[in-house]
Amino acid sequence: MEILNGKVVSQHIKEEIKKEVDQYKLAGKRAPHLVAILVGDDPASQAYVASKVKTCGEIGFESTLVRYEADIEEKILLEKIIACNADKDIDGILVQLPLPKHISENKVIETISPAKDVDGFHPSNQGKMMLGLPTFIPATPYGILLMLQHYGIKTSGMHAVVIGRSNIVGTPMSLLLSRNAEPGNCTVTICHSKTKNLKEICLQADMVVAAIGKANFVTADMVKPGAIIIDVGINRITSTETKSGYKLTGDVDFTAVSEKASYITPVPGGVGLMTICGLMKNTLLAYQNQCNKS
Ligand code: NDP
Repeated sequence: MEILNGKVVSQHIKEEIKKEVDQYKLAGKRAPHLVAILVGDDPASQAYVASKVKTCGEIGFESTLVRYEADIEEKILLEKIIACNADKDIDGILVQLPLPKHISENKVIETISPAKDVDGFHPSNQGKMMLGLPTFIPATPYGILLMLQHYGIKTSGMHAVVIGRSNIVGTPMSLLLSRNAEPGNCTVTICHSKTKNLKEICLQADMVVAAIGKANFVTADMVKPGAIIIDVGINRITSTETKSGYKLTGDVDFTAVSEKASYITPVPGGVGLMTICGLMKNTLLAYQNQCNKS
């Protein structure tokens, strides 16, 4: 069994991006600029945004963190996005999800200019991805593809089982794995909470992508020997072992499943770090597109 090490791969990708950014700066150009918008004080969202902003600093991007109270009016948030859309010195906009209930996530996503939608959630970008046109690929599936590529894992012909059908992870992941590309060319089964015989389906999988949001949901008896296991889940479970009183765990029972898998991503240290790489690569692309226009 080999661990798919998000730390190592993301470090490598970040160094590559930084080299490219240094070249732009040497040529007298400004740095790529990502604006991150955080609404409320959910601890997980704060941690995700903080690591995105920190990564921007590491790779030479400019970043701006915009924070609003949880009870902010939707209108104010939309106006801020519209202002960022119009600002030529901003390349990428990310609004950390989930948002408070009184704000429409769909409206927010649709207000972000598709050219700056570096999370790849805008319907126009999701549509382009479905058609195989150049676009921003949602950051988590993109990060997983980068991970598979880095390890030289050839997925062609595999049966991939994706558990979870969200618009940001499960659905785009299943589309990307099924397309005629490498990584890709998988036969994909997408599962969700209404799926019957989930265990039997998983046992047929050469690769399982778990994006459910339930700690240790995928157990060793659901996994075929030699399968590749991609654990997207980030679950906070209470723990007496940590100062904070909680620890992060994935959707996969890592200890038991790693004894059967050929490759497996850990949590933390796996897909989460790759998601940030996907976001940074999208921001660099948005910057390059904007530079080519002006
Ligand atoms: P959602 O809650 O939007 O989707 C969860 C999916 O899991 C749904 O499609 C749901 O089915 C399915 N599901 C729930 N229970 C079952 C079950 N018993 N059997 C089969 N399927 C089930 O979550 P996200 O896709 O946003 O996120 C999933 C996980 O990944 C979370 O832990 C999240 O924190 C994490 N995440 C991690 C990221 C990273 O960078 N590592 C990035 C984004 C998310 P149904 O549609 O029927 O309700």
